[in-house]
Amino acid sequence: MSKFWSDVVHKLIPYVPGEQPKLDNLVKLNTNENPYGPSHQVIRALQAEAADSLRLYPDPNSDKLKAAIADYYGLQTNQVFVGNGSDEVLAHVFQALLKHSRPLFFPDITYSFYPVYCCLYDIEYEEIPLNGNFEIDVKDYDKPNGGIIFANPNAPTGVPLALTEIESLLKINTESVLVIDEAYVDFGTESAVNLISTYPNLLVTQTLSKARSLAGLRVGYALGHKDLIEALIRVKDSFNSYPIDRFAEAGAIAAMQDKAYFEETRKKVIASRGVLVKGLQALHFEVLPSGANFIFARHKTLAGENLAAKLRDKSIVVRHFQKPSRISNYLRITIGTDGQSKQLINALSAILK
Ligand SMILES: *Cc1c(COP(=O)(O)O)cnc(C)c1O
Repeated sequence: MSKFWSDVVHKLIPYVPGEQPKLDNLVKLNTNENPYGPSHQVIRALQAEAADSLRLYPDPNSDKLKAAIADYYGLQTNQVFVGNGSDEVLAHVFQALLKHSRPLFFPDITYSFYPVYCCLYDIEYEEIPLNGNFEIDVKDYDKPNGGIIFANPNAPTGVPLALTEIESLLKINTESVLVIDEAYVDFGTESAVNLISTYPNLLVTQTLSKARSLAGLRVGYALGHKDLIEALIRVKDSFNSYPIDRFAEAGAIAAMQDKAYFEETRKKVIASRGVLVKGLQALHFEVLPSGANFIFARHKTLAGENLAAKLRDKSIVVRHFQKPSRISNYLRITIGTDGQSKQLINALSAILK
């Protein structure tokens, strides 16, 4: 605390990311990174970028990257916004599109960065409880609001919401923006991207951090009607002219273009998820249905916090959330390689013996 801080800093409650422990031989299953490295084409593109041209600023509009993303989805470049990780994109979304006189709605259990942005930008919000199966019931959102945001599949539960439900929400909610945070959508959840040409108030955000194995490069994007995108550009150009550096742009373009590698690795992760779920169920874990590269599970008898600590003693890190109490017995476990899953199952068998 310091008298030099502005008022807003005094009241901030910053987001706490999963730890990046500096230990060797760690089985790291706590921050939903991809167990497979980025495509070789990405590595080559990054190497080519390590050149004299680094003395020049990058393209402030990232036009080539926007074109690569637009191509991938069959959209126009003016329907694409890019930023330094989807966290930055989301921050701009909160400020540009979700700050209104009515409260913003999001689920009581969802990405815990949302209330942090609300605090930063002074946005009033209302948390809508998930139902007993940790699902979003779109009927609960049918009242006047300043915007709606949730992750699909949701975080940290991994539970997907069907596209038909999202479309029914768009039909009843026409007066505010609906943001779907699709950080994990490529691991088996239906994307809402195809609805953006029909619904001018739908914005979809995605990231290259998970399914494209590039958490270290920091690139995320938003897709939506050009008027929504223009609002984001206005905020971005009042904040940082060059959020995408030369490496990030070159690497992200190569990642969007290497569809074969993307398909191969995401399918491997989905297959490993199926194997891990069976292994956990055999050890008497209850596992929520997942459309993500992680699962949310609790043991029938052992407490989540206790299990997480015992796994850590065996150099396996998973994520545990103390709050809200409804999820305090669950562990969020990232899908690693099949070898890592085996290490996890062996460690849990030993702990539970
Ligand atoms: C990982 C994640 C993000 C942020 O990803 P970036 O690495 O900032 O692109 C956004 N939303 C959810 C739900 C996430 O899990």
